[in-house]
Amino acid sequence: MKVYDLIVIGGGRASTLAAKAGQIGKKVALIEKSKLGGTCPNRGCVPSKLLVGYADVIRTIQESKRHYISSDIDAIDREKVFRENSEFIDGVDDDYKSMLNENVELFRGEGSFISDKVVGVNDETLTAPTIIIATGSKPKKPPFENAWTSDDVFPIHKIPSSIAIVGSGFIACELANVFDALGVKTKLLVRSETLLSHEDKEISETFQKEFSKNIDIEFNTTVKDAKYENSFFNISFENKKGQETKHICETLLYATGRESNTYTLNLENTSIQVDEEGFIKRDEFFETSVKGIYVLGDAAGEHMLQHAAAFEMNHLYKFLFENEEKPLSFKYMPHAVFTDPEVASVGITEEEAKDKKLDFVVSKTDWLASAKAKSTKLTYPFTKFIVERDSYKILGCHMIGPQSSVMIHQVLTVMHIDNDIRHLKEMLYIHPALNESLLPAAINAIKNIRS
Ligand SMILES: Cc1cc2nc3c(=O)[nH]c(=O)nc-3n(C[C@H](O)[C@H](O)[C@H](O)COP(=O)(O)OP(=O)(O)OC[C@H]3O[C@@H](n4cnc5c(N)ncnc54)[C@H](O)[C@@H]3O)c2cc1C
Repeated sequence: MKVYDLIVIGGGRASTLAAKAGQIGKKVALIEKSKLGGTCPNRGCVPSKLLVGYADVIRTIQESKRHYISSDIDAIDREKVFRENSEFIDGVDDDYKSMLNENVELFRGEGSFISDKVVGVNDETLTAPTIIIATGSKPKKPPFENAWTSDDVFPIHKIPSSIAIVGSGFIACELANVFDALGVKTKLLVRSETLLSHEDKEISETFQKEFSKNIDIEFNTTVKDAKYENSFFNISFENKKGQETKHICETLLYATGRESNTYTLNLENTSIQVDEEGFIKRDEFFETSVKGIYVLGDAAGEHMLQHAAAFEMNHLYKFLFENEEKPLSFKYMPHAVFTDPEVASVGITEEEAKDKKLDFVVSKTDWLASAKAKSTKLTYPFTKFIVERDSYKILGCHMIGPQSSVMIHQVLTVMHIDNDIRHLKEMLYIHPALNESLLPAAINAIKNIRS
């Protein structure tokens, strides 16, 4: 049996932790069954956002009429777009491998537990006093044969001429926007009547109104059957009243959520506990129900975002190797949806504040006080603040409009320092930057507290 200081199962975000531990002289075993780097650079955030870049340019051209410019797109070289995307993905594993050092032994294979502190990979058995499980998550399996998940888009093996996407969350919306912008005939099939249902209600309502201007969406729809014949799907879906519609498309993609990946780990050979959805349970120091075995990232099923996994990775490294005994606290977890329109959010929604019976005020302010915002000729962008009445503490901030994912960072900074919305009123803004729209938003929230 091989003995290490640290075993890391899953070479996604945790591969950086393995490399850092190696740098300080720890003997590390890193086990990865697929490509180093994991979901984010191989089949998630990065390749999807590289495609969003193309979609953004296309939308700007398509919407140039708003600025009295008539323009047409002659052609989009989709082959080149997706080839470039796939070439990026091809280089990821090597990039991550070059980050490792002589103290990190890389095992290419599926790691699983033989007992609490013994891990098997290929034909070898390994042990270490400290084991980190970072095996990520996977897309839920589509109910129909030959249907895709997001894993089939990155890298793509055939660019479809038409696609139906089932789902209503951020992955479904981002992919629908990308495919539609790139000229693939796209239909979004949504079981409920809402897109981005986890967002603040007013944000998801505005999002739905604007997003539907570009994307063909069927709400209240259940896919009853999807037969794959002669390279096409024959889909039948049903609305709430039981009326059936037929639809033919080349590709059917399911983006209906992600699930635990831990079934490969043979956890039944250990005392590690999982929750009802199969995600690994942990305490505030990342420790599972077995001492010395930790879990981070999607495998714990908490926020399931790359910046959460990266934050956890740094925190766990400090806890394990720099004696920083601070419990994990996300404090303020932001997220964004990179679509047209763009959405960004941190903290609780108005609906959650009501459910919790908090003493709060709400302000909803459009961006039109900023000339840069006005120059976009969009009237829908707005910022919504949910603020605690007594303390001026920002409980939630929700934005919809261009560059929302950038703008929200200013609010985040204030929240991280001492979370008092009055800073956003008192600070100097560059006139007339997009961020200037935060000034009246903060003023309105403060006015509502004082009225
Ligand atoms: C299409 C898409 C877009 C996304 N966009 C964003 C975004 O814009 N922003 C954002 O913050 N997040 C985004 N995410 C989510 C983000 O990618 C994940 O939250 C993040 O990658 C999780 O990191 P991780 O290290 O926990 O897991 P992963 O990156 O999935 O790494 C887990 C690794 O473990 C390996 N593994 C699994 N089981 C075993 C085993 N038994 N033995 C050995 N190896 C194993 C896997 O092969 C994988 O490489 C997106 C996800 C998708 C699918």
